[in-house]
Amino acid sequence: MSEMWFTEQHAPSGSSVGFRVRAKLHEETTPFQTIAIYDSTDWGRLMVIDGCMMVTSRDNFLYHEMMVHPALYTHGAPRRVVVIGGGDCGTLREVLRHAEVARAVQVEIDERVTRLAEIHFPELCEANADARAELRFDDGVRYIAEMVPGSADVIIVDSTDPVGPAEGLFNEAFYRSCHRALGEGGLLVQQSESPIAHLELIRAMRTAMRKAGFRAMATLPFPQPCYPTGWWSCTMARKGPNPLDVFRAADADARTFPTRYYNSGVHRAALCPPEFLRVALSES
Ligand code: SAM
Repeated sequence: MSEMWFTEQHAPSGSSVGFRVRAKLHEETTPFQTIAIYDSTDWGRLMVIDGCMMVTSRDNFLYHEMMVHPALYTHGAPRRVVVIGGGDCGTLREVLRHAEVARAVQVEIDERVTRLAEIHFPELCEANADARAELRFDDGVRYIAEMVPGSADVIIVDSTDPVGPAEGLFNEAFYRSCHRALGEGGLLVQQSESPIAHLELIRAMRTAMRKAGFRAMATLPFPQPCYPTGWWSCTMARKGPNPLDVFRAADADARTFPTRYYNSGVHRAALCPPEFLRVALSES
């Protein structure tokens, strides 16, 4: 019997990423997108949305830890956190590991993503019942636009690529709403695709963030085997003048929860962009 593979072809970079699978466990089309779940031979479960890899059981810790811990250890007192997207709940779980967090709201447009994650990725959903967590199913663009000004310390945009429902999460109007929703010193962090394949997108995001009023900015690369090119990034932006290269390293070192990728050294290293990225981003 021939082997079955799930392969995501990434036409813009002329490359693909694939996983050997045993079975497709589920597929459904929601009003927003098509969600598929596979059982793989070596990477655990896979979640795929509209043909794009979202999460594997084996390597999601890289992405989830880097989307959360650098930002939360950069903010002086991250009490009020909003996650936009993030329906697999892995980002929410990492946020709730921080004892300072008093309230974390996850705003996912597609409830089915979360319901399928509860079945196929229960480990990512283990903090969903935390009394500090609120799961809302709504459009993140609208939610942020309607937030009380100054009412969030950290906004984390853990979305799909900037097409379909996520398109409105990558423009100046959205960043203006984020800027208004954040308190002084507040942080926006957004998944910003591959440094090697999506440099123009990263530059455009940073330009739009700056136009929206954000001052300091940092793009942190990290490995992510399951995404196109195997290399990904998040971009942090701060409301206020303080630079982003100072963080609560002693608190990061003294953390009482487990991490598999993040530590203060990884955080420091991620703040030093590789040369091509430093040059490309120096004007944005
Ligand atoms: N780690 C993933 C990646 O970078 O490919 C993202 C995972 S998470 C499953 C992305 C989520 O963003 C999806 O579940 C999708 O439904 C959600 N999403 C897309 N657009 C959204 C919007 N406008 N508001 C809220 N959630 C949105």
